[in-house]
Amino acid sequence: MSRASRAINNISPLRVIVFTGTISMLIVIAGIAGFVITQKNLLETVEKKQACYLNLVDFRGELLEFEVVRNIESHNSSVHGKVAKESRVHVDALLLNYQKLVVEMQRAGLPPFPVLQATLRQWPAMLGEENLGLFMRELDKSIEQAKVASKEASVRLVVINEFFLFFILAVLLTLSITAGWILHNNYRQTLIPLAQLVGQLKLLNRNIPESIRDTAEEMKKDLTVSGHSSDIDQITVSIMKFCSDIDAKNKKLDEIYIRDEKTNLYNYRHFKEHLIIDIERAKRLNDKVSLAMIDIDHFKLYNDAHGHLAGDNALKMMADIISSQCRAYDVPSRFGGEEFALLFPKTDTEIARDIGERLRKIISEESFPHEEHQPVGELTVSIGIATFPDDALDWPTLISNADRALYKAKADGRNKVVMFSSMQTLDNQG
Ligand code: GH3
Ligand code: MG
Ligand code: MG
Repeated sequence: MSRASRAINNISPLRVIVFTGTISMLIVIAGIAGFVITQKNLLETVEKKQACYLNLVDFRGELLEFEVVRNIESHNSSVHGKVAKESRVHVDALLLNYQKLVVEMQRAGLPPFPVLQATLRQWPAMLGEENLGLFMRELDKSIEQAKVASKEASVRLVVINEFFLFFILAVLLTLSITAGWILHNNYRQTLIPLAQLVGQLKLLNRNIPESIRDTAEEMKKDLTVSGHSSDIDQITVSIMKFCSDIDAKNKKLDEIYIRDEKTNLYNYRHFKEHLIIDIERAKRLNDKVSLAMIDIDHFKLYNDAHGHLAGDNALKMMADIISSQCRAYDVPSRFGGEEFALLFPKTDTEIARDIGERLRKIISEESFPHEEHQPVGELTVSIGIATFPDDALDWPTLISNADRALYKAKADGRNKVVMFSSMQTLDNQG
């Protein structure tokens, strides 16, 4: 899609409609006003020219009548005096009409009769028999010119009417095409994407946590694929951001739900869920699960001597070491207080003991702040380990037996790893 058409797509349909409507209305109003004024002027011109033409014809008739009267006059000398007097009146009336006619022709924009103009001053001598023929020919020419001019003005009026009709049709056609274009764009850029959005939101409502990420991804794809109107783009961006925000918050909530705040290890809730699932899986697959319970030695003394903030700091350092020594599928957790529980799926007693021993050694060698004041001069841990199904056949017993091994490690002097299986062996020997 070119940059120009994308820019057009980004114009709000409402703005296009208002803009096009206003421009069309202005064009139509200007067209109608222009037409009304032009038509009025043309009508006046046509009327003037037609009136002039008719008056010229009348005047010709009067002249013919005058000639007839004069002929009678010349054949009847007995009434000569009376007729001469009437002719005199007739000649004056003709002069008056002639003068009116000249003014009328000027107003109608018709060319004056040049010969008549020249002979006007000789009136009524020009009405003598020898001049009347010339006068009549001149008049006939003017009548013909007035007739042609009047016809031309009528034709112009018809042309203007036809042009206006064409103009109105053109405006209507333009408006129909523009309206169709707007409707089509509206359908393509607004209604279709809106229906898609509604579909995605329905999906979102049905299954919120799973759909949120998918919906945001789908919307991102939609935004890059086809040209939507700017309104739809804005709605899509808002919903996409809303989904992304919820997704991010959900992830955060998921973490909070399973993590311990102080140590960032898994919390007891997550540990227990995992333990139950792993035991069930081990039962099905005939597999082993080991559990190590870890307790900080003489931690009360440490807290009492250096305060709980220093205790928290040591607790966090201890948790970081435990995490670093675990494999990806192990579940290092804070069981409660200064006790940790480490779940080792698919792990037998020997491997669990190796991990426990390595952990105990690293912690004992790590230098913690103020540890020199501890009873043995260092901060240490005691660890008890039990394994499913060797030492327990269900998860509560597994915890309980790992705990018993831990008490044994404490009883044996602390900073020790005790396997529950070794306690059994001792018991059996005892
Ligand atoms: P032991 O070697 O027998 O385990 O001795 P202990 O002093 O560690 O055991 P005890 O059960 O007497 O005391 C546990 C201490 O752990 C008490 C408490 O102040 C401390 N503790 C438990 N949870 C926290 C915690 O979240 N932060 C801090 N700073 N201390 C804690
Ligand atoms: Mg304890
Ligand atoms: Mg302790």
